[in-house]
Amino acid sequence: MNDRDALAARLATEFRARLGRPPAGVWAAPGRVNLMGEHTDYNDGLVLPFALDSATLVAVAPRDDDLLTCLSLDRPGVAALRTGDLRPGAVTGWPAYVLGALWALGWPQARQPGLDIVVTSQVPPGAGLSSSAALTCAVTLAAAELAGLEPDRTTLAAAARRAETDMVGAPVGIMDQMAAMHGQTDHALLLDCRSLTFEPVPLPGQDSGLALLVVDTRISHAHADGGYAQRRTACEDAARTLGVQALRDATLTAVETTLVGEQRRIARHVVTEIERVRTAVTALRHNDLTGLGEIFAASQASMRDDFRISCPELDLAVDTLLDAGALAARMTGGGFGGCTIALLPDAAVPTATTAVTAAFKTRGLTPPRAFKTRPSHGATRVC
Ligand code: ADP
Ligand code: MG
Repeated sequence: MNDRDALAARLATEFRARLGRPPAGVWAAPGRVNLMGEHTDYNDGLVLPFALDSATLVAVAPRDDDLLTCLSLDRPGVAALRTGDLRPGAVTGWPAYVLGALWALGWPQARQPGLDIVVTSQVPPGAGLSSSAALTCAVTLAAAELAGLEPDRTTLAAAARRAETDMVGAPVGIMDQMAAMHGQTDHALLLDCRSLTFEPVPLPGQDSGLALLVVDTRISHAHADGGYAQRRTACEDAARTLGVQALRDATLTAVETTLVGEQRRIARHVVTEIERVRTAVTALRHNDLTGLGEIFAASQASMRDDFRISCPELDLAVDTLLDAGALAARMTGGGFGGCTIALLPDAAVPTATTAVTAAFKTRGLTPPRAFKTRPSHGATRVC
């Protein structure tokens, strides 16, 4: 039995203990790491995420009445709401992700039955690994299957996103939900966030002697406040100044000649980052790891100096990983904390992990958490 199956069994046991009957099933959806393309999703650009091998699990059973209840094994608070009362603003805190997913699926209009939902997760929350999309996607898939709905996974991803944008009030893009729904083992997903078309891109597999290492700085970001929303607005302003629908449509020449100051920096990151997604895919397809390392370094510099979403802890982790033998390393996710992702020889993982821990300790920082991950498949029914 692997970790996920064991956790699913424990979740089903907890469900039965707390609700007095077994769940109808347990569903799982993974967190994600983005390899390239930060803050490009809401600019209609390209991204290159992969689904993690850690997931959020939900145990769900229909009820005889119209009550929707949810509880999490990982945090306090329970929510209970009549289906007819489900609307934006009716629920706050973490249950907004769960009930928001039902609202986005049209649960009230379809007069679907009440549900009991119990949640637990392997994805650390607030670390930039998208525990939020893992949660909304797991609920969305579970509810759709229980209701006998058969929308395609992209439609489910869009519903999961609406849970976050409309119910939670976090202005997120579509990348996380698409990765959680469409992830494939040992592949990243080259996703066009305008057309929502995607293609799998092979990543070095287990026999390559390479490993993907995530370092969680444990500096927690908070998407709902400040920086993320500010960058988003700044991107929209820059697109308006340039007279384009989204920054995806802007050229670097137009950015450099038309924009000034902060708008220029912001737009330059987005335009060059979209191009880096393309070049990173080419490098991966040609197994050009030196080239990939250079593209990662350019991305890290752009996020640090132009878009200004890195932080000293992320910069320190990236620099230390590179010194310890990583072939490519950069921060990943929305920024202001969260994680780095690095590709390195498997044999270098222990040294790199020790080096990062020591570097943080020397500076009196909270010990980071490093773990190897493997690109995994998207949301699924576990049992
Ligand atoms: P990230 O998606 O990067 O992990 P977010 O701030 O977008 O960070 O989402 C984290 C939020 O998702 C948590 O604050 C909580 O509301 C919700 N969440 C994630 N995992 C769980 C869980 N296991 N139980 C309850 N809520 C969770
Ligand atoms: Mg999130």
